[in-house]
Amino acid sequence: YLFGKKRATDVPHMIWKHIVQKGDSVVDATCGNGFDTLAMLKLVADDSGEGCVYAMDIQKDALDSTSSLLEESVDPHERQLIKLFHICHSKMEEIVPENASVRLVAFNLGYLPGGDKEIITRSETTLLALEAAKRILMRGGLISIVVYVGHPGGWEELKVVEGFAARMSTEDWICCKLQMLNRPNAPIPIFLFRR
Ligand code: SAM
Repeated sequence: YLFGKKRATDVPHMIWKHIVQKGDSVVDATCGNGFDTLAMLKLVADDSGEGCVYAMDIQKDALDSTSSLLEESVDPHERQLIKLFHICHSKMEEIVPENASVRLVAFNLGYLPGGDKEIITRSETTLLALEAAKRILMRGGLISIVVYVGHPGGWEELKVVEGFAARMSTEDWICCKLQMLNRPNAPIPIFLFRR
């Protein structure tokens, strides 16, 4: 997750900047400690009070951790733009309004850093969540996925994400994969699916 002073997640954050606009609705499908949620908030928050980050996690500890990070990092006015949910990401359509134009759905798979390493994202629900993300994403939007392969189940999940990408229509989607070439045992693949 961290290598030297560089975070693998700096890469998707850099790419999000070119796609997400002020006032957008975006989804953090795995909020964890809240670093991605915070990065998304900075991109969508504008003075008019529009913009929304729907962030979720199956762990109460993760939601608490995200809330603390947000409390210390952003003012209450901006914090209002974040909606936190204790829910599985396969059910994201239950919390994101049907009329919301979602420009980004981000996944950061695996376990909660600093938390219980047994609680991980699982291939089956990850696949359902990717399908839901595909349905709610607007044209021009992005699905961003950071995958970790160092824990049990990680490689299997990677194969599921690759399989999902391979089935995407070439007319509607551009599907790319990046990976850290200087970390052969932990390449941290990053998937970007642009609609
Ligand atoms: N994005 C986070 C951050 O910036 O700190 C890191 C996310 S961490 C690698 C993965 C998170 O996914 C964990 O907090 C875990 O509880 C959560 N998770 C696992 N299964 C999930 C599911 N089915 N739905 C939503 N979140 C899930």
